[in-house]
Amino acid sequence: MASKMPVAIDSTRRKITISMAECSDYESPLECEFCDAKVSFVNGFTREVGDNIISVNPYFRLKTSNTHGSECKYNVEGQVKVIVRESEGNVLTQTESGKFELRLLAVKKAIQKLQDLANKKKNGGSDDQKEIKEKGYIKSGQKLGSYINSALRVLKVRSFCEENADIENLLELVFDGVRLPWKDFYYEDKDYFRCYSNIRKATVTVPIAIIGVIKSVRAIDGEKGKFTVINLAGPYRKTDKKDTLDSVYVSIWSPDVGLFEGYKAGDVLLSFGIFDAAKVTEKPNNSSTSSVRKFRNHDLRLWPISKSQLCKVSG
Ligand SMILES: [Zn+2]
Repeated sequence: MASKMPVAIDSTRRKITISMAECSDYESPLECEFCDAKVSFVNGFTREVGDNIISVNPYFRLKTSNTHGSECKYNVEGQVKVIVRESEGNVLTQTESGKFELRLLAVKKAIQKLQDLANKKKNGGSDDQKEIKEKGYIKSGQKLGSYINSALRVLKVRSFCEENADIENLLELVFDGVRLPWKDFYYEDKDYFRCYSNIRKATVTVPIAIIGVIKSVRAIDGEKGKFTVINLAGPYRKTDKKDTLDSVYVSIWSPDVGLFEGYKAGDVLLSFGIFDAAKVTEKPNNSSTSSVRKFRNHDLRLWPISKSQLCKVSG
């Protein structure tokens, strides 16, 4: 169980940064910055996602059969323990077997209640009533927000891991008594089509996490008012027709134009909540040089109610 690391220590006890490692300016073997686990350097690389070229930053990784010390900052179990200890309510708990559990029904309820509060606030009564109510909203809003925040902190730990296997044996996902595999909860861009079909066929909506690289952050002045929208880079998929490709677009919307401040194209974004999957729509391809005439678009949308449903993570 391990996280990606930005720094290592070499055999002469020098602190080695990513840029030093890129110039091979270190003496092997490399160790973790905080414990004696052996680590190795992984070069950065680029990969294609749809029509986007995405760079994956270099990092240090734990060598096979090594583990971080129990007190090490990069020990995933240690990180999860701290979050569980600091979390409010029953959203994160330790089970009798010593494992940890993230309760997604509690998170879903928190998101829905926050949505209700926001709606009630918008349709509030007189000024006096409003003030009394306002205090109540803030109080319950903070509590609900803290549930969402605990879930986000756990997701951040996952985002620093290389794969689900690094966390799934330690932290189980439970929705209304049913265990959910991490692969059906945490989706990277290669999983977006699967995410789309899972949401379409689900009978119960479950909060999920989507991580990806921001393609654009735009302001939209539409018929129903102003919105701000983030689009993530999504993959294409071949279809049985030569001139048609499947595309998948993840977008995050808000009427609060300041909500996505600080996010820009190229950032890796972790988003979390109840996503909608709209019916597949066909769109013509505007590029005249391409043999692709049509896209069959799979649209995944999130309307976050709280800032803590989003955060920037390193790629
Ligand atoms: Zn360590």
